Amino acid sequence: MIIVMKLGATDAALRHAEDRLREFGLTPHLIVGAERTIMAATGKEKSGLQAALEALEGVEKVMSVLAPYKLASLESHREPSVVKVRDFVAGGGHIGVVAGPCSVESRQQMLEMAHLVKSVGATGLRGGAYKPRTSPYSFQGLKEKGLELLAEAREATGLAIFTEVMAPELVPIVARVTDVLQIGARNMQNYPLLEAAGESGLPVLLKRGPSATIEELLLAAEYVLKTGNEKVILCERGIRTFEDHTRFTLPLATIPYLHEKSHLPVMADPSHGTGKATLVGPMARAAIAAGADALMLEIHDDPEHAMSDGFQALTPPVFVHVMQECRRVAAALDRTLG
Ligand code: PEP
Ligand code: MN
Repeated sequence: MIIVMKLGATDAALRHAEDRLREFGLTPHLIVGAERTIMAATGKEKSGLQAALEALEGVEKVMSVLAPYKLASLESHREPSVVKVRDFVAGGGHIGVVAGPCSVESRQQMLEMAHLVKSVGATGLRGGAYKPRTSPYSFQGLKEKGLELLAEAREATGLAIFTEVMAPELVPIVARVTDVLQIGARNMQNYPLLEAAGESGLPVLLKRGPSATIEELLLAAEYVLKTGNEKVILCERGIRTFEDHTRFTLPLATIPYLHEKSHLPVMADPSHGTGKATLVGPMARAAIAAGADALMLEIHDDPEHAMSDGFQALTPPVFVHVMQECRRVAAALDRTLG
Protein backbone atom coordinates (compact mmCIF):
# COMPACT_ATOMS: atom_id res chain seq x y z
CA MET A 1 0.00 0.00 0.00
CA ILE A 2 1.27 3.50 -0.86
CA ILE A 3 0.28 6.53 1.21
CA VAL A 4 0.91 9.97 -0.25
CA MET A 5 0.97 12.73 2.38
CA LYS A 6 -0.35 16.22 1.65
CA LEU A 7 2.00 19.08 0.81
CA GLY A 8 3.09 20.55 4.13
CA ALA A 9 1.72 17.68 6.23
CA THR A 10 3.00 18.13 9.78
CA ASP A 11 5.35 15.76 11.59
CA ALA A 12 2.56 14.98 14.02
CA ALA A 13 0.26 13.94 11.12
CA LEU A 14 3.04 11.77 9.73
CA ARG A 15 3.70 10.05 13.09
CA HIS A 16 -0.02 9.47 13.54
CA ALA A 17 -0.31 7.86 10.08
CA GLU A 18 2.67 5.62 10.93
CA ASP A 19 1.05 4.62 14.25
CA ARG A 20 -2.22 3.74 12.50
CA LEU A 21 -0.34 1.57 10.00
CA ARG A 22 1.40 -0.32 12.83
CA GLU A 23 -1.95 -0.81 14.57
CA PHE A 24 -3.12 -2.59 11.40
CA GLY A 25 0.01 -4.80 11.52
CA LEU A 26 1.84 -3.10 8.65
CA THR A 27 5.39 -1.72 8.53
CA PRO A 28 5.79 1.84 7.25
CA HIS A 29 8.77 2.81 5.08
CA LEU A 30 9.23 6.55 4.62
CA ILE A 31 10.32 8.21 1.40
CA VAL A 32 11.02 11.84 2.26
CA GLY A 33 11.09 14.13 -0.77
CA ALA A 34 11.82 17.87 -1.00
CA GLU A 35 8.10 18.65 -1.28
CA ARG A 36 6.24 15.71 0.19
CA THR A 37 6.54 12.50 2.06
CA ILE A 38 5.35 9.18 0.74
CA MET A 39 4.95 6.03 2.80
CA ALA A 40 5.13 2.50 1.49
CA ALA A 41 3.47 0.03 3.84
CA THR A 42 4.40 -3.63 3.71
CA GLY A 43 2.53 -6.54 5.29
CA LYS A 44 -0.87 -8.11 4.91
CA GLU A 45 -3.54 -5.56 4.05
CA LYS A 46 -6.68 -5.73 6.16
CA SER A 47 -10.14 -4.62 5.16
CA GLY A 48 -11.01 -1.14 6.36
CA LEU A 49 -7.39 0.01 6.34
CA GLN A 50 -7.59 2.11 3.20
CA ALA A 51 -10.71 3.96 4.38
CA ALA A 52 -9.17 4.51 7.83
CA LEU A 53 -6.03 6.04 6.32
CA GLU A 54 -7.93 8.17 3.81
CA ALA A 55 -9.78 9.79 6.72
CA LEU A 56 -6.53 10.98 8.36
CA GLU A 57 -5.49 14.59 8.41
CA GLY A 58 -2.37 15.05 6.32
CA VAL A 59 -3.08 12.10 4.01
CA GLU A 60 -3.79 12.99 0.40
CA LYS A 61 -4.11 9.65 -1.32
CA VAL A 62 -3.94 5.96 -0.48
CA MET A 63 -3.27 3.38 -3.18
CA SER A 64 -3.56 -0.32 -2.76
CA VAL A 65 -0.98 -2.26 -4.73
CA LEU A 66 -2.93 -5.53 -4.54
CA ALA A 67 -6.17 -6.15 -6.42
CA PRO A 68 -9.26 -5.80 -4.19
CA TYR A 69 -10.69 -8.93 -5.80
CA LYS A 70 -8.45 -11.49 -4.13
CA LEU A 71 -9.93 -14.79 -5.34
CA ALA A 72 -10.67 -13.66 -8.90
CA SER A 73 -7.23 -12.17 -9.30
CA LEU A 74 -4.25 -13.65 -11.14
CA GLU A 75 -2.19 -12.71 -8.09
CA SER A 76 -3.89 -15.45 -6.07
CA HIS A 77 -4.23 -18.00 -8.87
CA ARG A 78 -1.52 -17.89 -11.51
CA GLU A 79 -2.95 -20.48 -13.89
CA PRO A 80 -6.01 -19.68 -16.04
CA SER A 81 -9.08 -21.58 -14.81
CA VAL A 82 -11.08 -23.87 -17.04
CA VAL A 83 -14.82 -24.31 -16.47
CA LYS A 84 -16.18 -27.59 -17.75
CA VAL A 85 -19.75 -28.84 -17.60
CA ARG A 86 -20.92 -31.82 -19.67
CA ASP A 87 -19.11 -31.33 -23.02
CA PHE A 88 -18.99 -27.55 -22.67
CA VAL A 89 -15.47 -26.29 -21.92
CA ALA A 90 -14.45 -22.65 -21.48
CA GLY A 91 -10.70 -22.08 -21.36
CA GLY A 92 -7.55 -24.13 -21.73
CA GLY A 93 -7.44 -23.57 -25.49
CA HIS A 94 -11.07 -24.49 -26.03
CA ILE A 95 -13.82 -22.02 -26.89
CA GLY A 96 -17.18 -23.22 -25.57
CA VAL A 97 -20.19 -22.14 -27.62
CA VAL A 98 -23.61 -21.74 -26.02
CA ALA A 99 -26.40 -20.96 -28.45
CA GLY A 100 -30.16 -20.91 -28.38
CA PRO A 101 -33.13 -18.60 -28.39
CA CYS A 102 -33.37 -15.57 -26.13
CA SER A 103 -36.52 -17.03 -24.52
CA VAL A 104 -37.84 -20.55 -24.29
CA GLU A 105 -41.07 -20.23 -26.29
CA SER A 106 -42.43 -23.69 -27.05
CA ARG A 107 -41.54 -27.37 -26.98
CA GLN A 108 -41.14 -27.59 -30.75
CA GLN A 109 -38.95 -24.48 -30.92
CA MET A 110 -36.69 -25.62 -28.09
CA LEU A 111 -36.20 -29.12 -29.50
CA GLU A 112 -35.55 -27.85 -33.01
CA MET A 113 -33.04 -25.27 -31.81
CA ALA A 114 -31.35 -27.83 -29.55
CA HIS A 115 -30.87 -30.25 -32.44
CA LEU A 116 -29.51 -27.44 -34.61
CA VAL A 117 -27.06 -26.36 -31.89
CA LYS A 118 -25.94 -29.95 -31.46
CA SER A 119 -25.57 -30.48 -35.23
CA VAL A 120 -23.07 -27.62 -35.60
CA GLY A 121 -20.92 -29.01 -32.81
CA ALA A 122 -21.76 -26.44 -30.12
CA THR A 123 -21.96 -27.80 -26.58
CA GLY A 124 -24.18 -25.37 -24.65
CA LEU A 125 -27.88 -24.60 -25.08
CA ARG A 126 -29.32 -21.33 -23.85
CA GLY A 127 -32.92 -20.24 -23.38
CA GLY A 128 -34.46 -17.85 -20.87
CA ALA A 129 -37.27 -19.31 -18.78
CA TYR A 130 -37.36 -16.32 -16.41
CA LYS A 131 -36.87 -13.19 -18.48
CA PRO A 132 -35.69 -9.83 -17.12
CA ARG A 133 -37.63 -7.42 -19.35
CA THR A 134 -37.39 -3.65 -19.32
CA SER A 135 -41.17 -3.38 -19.49
CA PRO A 136 -43.43 -5.34 -17.12
CA TYR A 137 -45.87 -5.66 -20.06
CA SER A 138 -43.39 -7.64 -22.19
CA PHE A 139 -43.25 -11.46 -22.24
CA GLN A 140 -41.80 -12.55 -18.90
CA GLY A 141 -40.88 -16.12 -19.83
CA LEU A 142 -42.53 -19.51 -19.45
CA LYS A 143 -40.91 -19.88 -16.01
CA GLU A 144 -41.17 -23.45 -14.62
CA LYS A 145 -42.69 -24.73 -17.84
CA GLY A 146 -39.69 -23.25 -19.65
CA LEU A 147 -37.33 -25.12 -17.31
CA GLU A 148 -39.13 -28.38 -18.13
CA LEU A 149 -38.65 -27.74 -21.85
CA LEU A 150 -34.95 -27.05 -21.31
CA ALA A 151 -34.62 -30.33 -19.41
CA GLU A 152 -36.32 -32.16 -22.26
CA ALA A 153 -34.00 -30.54 -24.81
CA ARG A 154 -30.98 -31.65 -22.77
CA GLU A 155 -32.39 -35.17 -22.54
CA ALA A 156 -32.65 -35.23 -26.34
CA THR A 157 -29.19 -33.79 -27.08
CA GLY A 158 -26.91 -33.93 -24.03
CA LEU A 159 -26.16 -30.20 -24.39
CA ALA A 160 -25.26 -28.24 -21.23
CA ILE A 161 -28.13 -25.95 -20.26
CA PHE A 162 -27.54 -22.25 -19.52
CA THR A 163 -30.50 -20.32 -18.15
CA GLU A 164 -30.95 -17.17 -16.10
CA VAL A 165 -31.89 -17.01 -12.45
CA MET A 166 -33.32 -13.66 -11.40
CA ALA A 167 -33.78 -13.89 -7.62
CA PRO A 168 -32.18 -15.75 -4.69
CA GLU A 169 -35.42 -17.62 -3.93
CA LEU A 170 -35.47 -18.98 -7.50
CA VAL A 171 -31.98 -20.50 -7.23
CA PRO A 172 -33.18 -23.90 -5.88
CA ILE A 173 -35.88 -24.10 -8.58
CA VAL A 174 -33.61 -23.18 -11.51
CA ALA A 175 -30.70 -25.22 -10.11
CA ARG A 176 -32.82 -28.40 -10.22
CA VAL A 177 -32.68 -28.21 -14.02
CA THR A 178 -29.86 -26.06 -15.31
CA ASP A 179 -26.19 -26.98 -15.71
CA VAL A 180 -25.04 -23.35 -15.48
CA LEU A 181 -26.76 -20.52 -13.60
CA GLN A 182 -26.74 -17.33 -15.62
CA ILE A 183 -26.72 -14.08 -13.66
CA GLY A 184 -28.00 -11.43 -16.03
CA ALA A 185 -26.48 -8.03 -16.63
CA ARG A 186 -29.22 -6.29 -14.65
CA ASN A 187 -28.43 -8.44 -11.63
CA MET A 188 -24.65 -8.29 -11.66
CA GLN A 189 -24.64 -6.42 -8.38
CA ASN A 190 -27.49 -8.32 -6.70
CA TYR A 191 -25.27 -9.57 -3.89
CA PRO A 192 -27.73 -11.96 -2.19
CA LEU A 193 -28.32 -13.54 -5.63
CA LEU A 194 -24.57 -13.89 -6.26
CA GLU A 195 -24.15 -15.62 -2.89
CA ALA A 196 -27.13 -17.91 -3.40
CA ALA A 197 -25.90 -18.86 -6.88
CA GLY A 198 -22.42 -19.53 -5.49
CA GLU A 199 -23.80 -21.71 -2.71
CA SER A 200 -25.69 -23.88 -5.22
CA GLY A 201 -22.30 -25.26 -6.28
CA LEU A 202 -23.29 -25.01 -9.96
CA PRO A 203 -21.09 -23.13 -12.44
CA VAL A 204 -22.11 -19.46 -12.66
CA LEU A 205 -22.10 -17.34 -15.79
CA LEU A 206 -21.78 -13.75 -14.63
CA LYS A 207 -22.74 -11.10 -17.18
CA ARG A 208 -21.23 -7.64 -16.95
CA GLY A 209 -23.70 -4.91 -15.99
CA PRO A 210 -24.05 -2.36 -18.82
CA SER A 211 -22.74 0.38 -16.49
CA ALA A 212 -20.32 -1.67 -14.42
CA THR A 213 -16.56 -1.20 -14.48
CA ILE A 214 -14.27 -4.19 -14.82
CA GLU A 215 -13.31 -3.86 -11.16
CA GLU A 216 -17.00 -4.02 -10.21
CA LEU A 217 -17.44 -7.11 -12.42
CA LEU A 218 -14.50 -8.82 -10.73
CA LEU A 219 -15.74 -7.86 -7.27
CA ALA A 220 -19.15 -9.32 -8.18
CA ALA A 221 -17.38 -12.55 -9.21
CA GLU A 222 -15.64 -12.42 -5.83
CA TYR A 223 -19.03 -12.81 -4.10
CA VAL A 224 -19.52 -16.14 -5.89
CA LEU A 225 -15.93 -17.32 -5.40
CA LYS A 226 -16.09 -16.45 -1.69
CA THR A 227 -18.74 -19.15 -1.20
CA GLY A 228 -16.11 -21.71 -2.22
CA ASN A 229 -17.56 -22.13 -5.72
CA GLU A 230 -14.67 -21.74 -8.17
CA LYS A 231 -16.67 -22.29 -11.34
CA VAL A 232 -17.28 -18.78 -12.60
CA ILE A 233 -17.32 -17.60 -16.22
CA LEU A 234 -17.24 -13.84 -16.81
CA CYS A 235 -19.24 -12.48 -19.73
CA GLU A 236 -18.71 -9.27 -21.69
CA ARG A 237 -22.11 -8.47 -23.16
CA GLY A 238 -21.73 -4.78 -24.00
CA ILE A 239 -22.01 -1.53 -22.10
CA ARG A 240 -24.00 1.71 -22.34
CA THR A 241 -22.24 4.48 -24.21
CA PHE A 242 -23.27 7.54 -26.25
CA GLU A 243 -23.29 5.37 -29.37
CA ASP A 244 -26.70 4.57 -30.79
CA HIS A 245 -25.82 2.56 -33.89
CA THR A 246 -25.80 -0.60 -31.77
CA ARG A 247 -27.95 -1.69 -28.82
CA PHE A 248 -24.87 -1.65 -26.56
CA THR A 249 -21.17 -1.07 -27.26
CA LEU A 250 -19.18 -4.31 -27.19
CA PRO A 251 -15.70 -3.45 -25.86
CA LEU A 252 -13.53 -6.33 -26.94
CA ALA A 253 -10.42 -5.01 -25.17
CA THR A 254 -12.19 -6.23 -22.02
CA ILE A 255 -11.30 -9.79 -23.01
CA PRO A 256 -7.48 -9.52 -23.04
CA TYR A 257 -7.64 -7.04 -20.15
CA LEU A 258 -9.58 -9.52 -18.00
CA HIS A 259 -7.01 -12.17 -18.88
CA GLU A 260 -4.29 -9.83 -17.57
CA LYS A 261 -6.13 -9.39 -14.27
CA SER A 262 -8.01 -12.61 -13.62
CA HIS A 263 -7.71 -16.37 -14.06
CA LEU A 264 -11.43 -16.75 -14.80
CA PRO A 265 -12.53 -17.70 -18.33
CA VAL A 266 -14.17 -14.96 -20.36
CA MET A 267 -17.21 -15.35 -22.60
CA ALA A 268 -18.24 -12.82 -25.24
CA ASP A 269 -21.89 -12.22 -26.09
CA PRO A 270 -22.00 -10.43 -29.46
CA SER A 271 -25.79 -10.89 -29.65
CA HIS A 272 -26.67 -8.56 -26.76
CA GLY A 273 -23.44 -6.65 -27.36
CA THR A 274 -24.56 -5.43 -30.77
CA GLY A 275 -28.33 -6.03 -30.85
CA LYS A 276 -28.10 -6.48 -34.62
CA ALA A 277 -28.06 -9.89 -36.27
CA THR A 278 -25.78 -8.73 -39.11
CA LEU A 279 -23.07 -7.63 -36.66
CA VAL A 280 -23.06 -10.79 -34.54
CA GLY A 281 -20.87 -12.95 -36.83
CA PRO A 282 -18.10 -10.35 -37.33
CA MET A 283 -18.00 -9.56 -33.60
CA ALA A 284 -18.00 -13.25 -32.69
CA ARG A 285 -14.95 -13.74 -34.92
CA ALA A 286 -13.29 -10.66 -33.43
CA ALA A 287 -13.99 -11.88 -29.89
CA ILE A 288 -12.23 -15.17 -30.66
CA ALA A 289 -9.28 -13.26 -32.09
CA ALA A 290 -9.22 -11.18 -28.88
CA GLY A 291 -8.93 -14.36 -26.80
CA ALA A 292 -12.49 -15.20 -25.72
CA ASP A 293 -12.82 -18.58 -23.98
CA ALA A 294 -16.50 -18.91 -24.83
CA LEU A 295 -19.23 -17.42 -27.01
CA MET A 296 -22.94 -16.85 -26.47
CA LEU A 297 -25.08 -16.64 -29.60
CA GLU A 298 -28.83 -16.06 -29.81
CA ILE A 299 -30.57 -17.94 -32.61
CA HIS A 300 -34.19 -18.25 -33.77
CA ASP A 301 -35.91 -20.16 -36.58
CA ASP A 302 -38.33 -17.25 -37.12
CA PRO A 303 -36.77 -14.05 -35.69
CA GLU A 304 -39.67 -11.92 -36.91
CA HIS A 305 -42.00 -13.71 -34.52
CA ALA A 306 -39.60 -14.17 -31.60
CA MET A 307 -41.03 -13.36 -28.16
CA SER A 308 -37.85 -11.42 -27.30
CA ASP A 309 -34.68 -10.11 -29.01
CA GLY A 310 -35.64 -11.29 -32.53
CA PHE A 311 -33.66 -8.39 -34.03
CA GLN A 312 -30.38 -9.89 -32.87
CA ALA A 313 -31.14 -13.58 -33.47
CA LEU A 314 -29.23 -15.52 -36.14
CA THR A 315 -31.40 -17.62 -38.44
CA PRO A 316 -30.36 -21.30 -38.69
CA PRO A 317 -28.44 -20.96 -42.01
CA VAL A 318 -26.61 -17.84 -40.80
CA PHE A 319 -25.80 -19.57 -37.50
CA VAL A 320 -24.29 -22.53 -39.37
CA HIS A 321 -22.17 -20.13 -41.42
CA VAL A 322 -21.06 -18.10 -38.38
CA MET A 323 -19.98 -21.30 -36.65
CA GLN A 324 -17.91 -22.35 -39.68
CA GLU A 325 -16.17 -18.98 -39.78
CA CYS A 326 -15.57 -18.93 -36.04
CA ARG A 327 -14.06 -22.39 -36.21
CA ARG A 328 -11.60 -21.21 -38.85
CA VAL A 329 -10.54 -18.21 -36.77
CA ALA A 330 -10.13 -20.46 -33.71
CA ALA A 331 -8.06 -22.97 -35.69
CA ALA A 332 -5.79 -20.18 -36.97
CA LEU A 333 -5.04 -19.42 -33.32
CA ASP A 334 -4.52 -23.10 -32.41
CA ARG A 335 -7.75 -23.30 -30.47
CA THR A 336 -10.72 -25.56 -30.80
CA LEU A 337 -14.32 -24.42 -30.77
CA GLY A 338 -17.58 -26.10 -29.98
C1 PEP B 1 -30.05 -12.83 -22.06
O1 PEP B 1 -29.01 -13.50 -22.07
O2 PEP B 1 -31.08 -13.12 -22.69
C2 PEP B 1 -30.05 -11.53 -21.33
C3 PEP B 1 -31.16 -11.02 -20.84
O3 PEP B 1 -28.83 -11.00 -21.27
P1 PEP B 1 -28.29 -9.71 -20.47
O4 PEP B 1 -28.49 -10.03 -19.02
O5 PEP B 1 -26.85 -9.64 -20.87
O6 PEP B 1 -29.10 -8.53 -20.93
MN1 MN C 1 -31.77 -11.96 -25.14
